[in-house]
Amino acid sequence: MMTEGDFIGVWQHAYDNHNEIRRSNSCRCLGCRERFAPSEICRWIVTSKGDRKIFEGNPVGKRDLAKHASAFCPYCDEQYVIGDASGYPLNDAAFIAQVFSVGPRIFFDGSHH
Ligand SMILES: [Zn+2]
Repeated sequence: MMTEGDFIGVWQHAYDNHNEIRRSNSCRCLGCRERFAPSEICRWIVTSKGDRKIFEGNPVGKRDLAKHASAFCPYCDEQYVIGDASGYPLNDAAFIAQVFSVGPRIFFDGSHH
């Protein structure tokens, strides 16, 4: 049984998630619930030393850039993408709905950055 804290923890996988998405076969957006391949992602936000900038393209192979890159959903353009390498049951609609119900507001108001 997952607690609310566990569901909030799932949101961590939507941030700085480039490495995880590289290891994933498919991704799911927590917002629009779309499923897509990692290769469909073409926009990232890269944070470095407090700077945030948008990177267009797929930064595979650009190691230093990739480390702090977070994916935008190619369908709704929100930063709500989780890769299946996270180990979460991304096919489970009830799970996705519960994750979404605890965030992202709590997450943004919380401890991240
Ligand atoms: Zn989406």
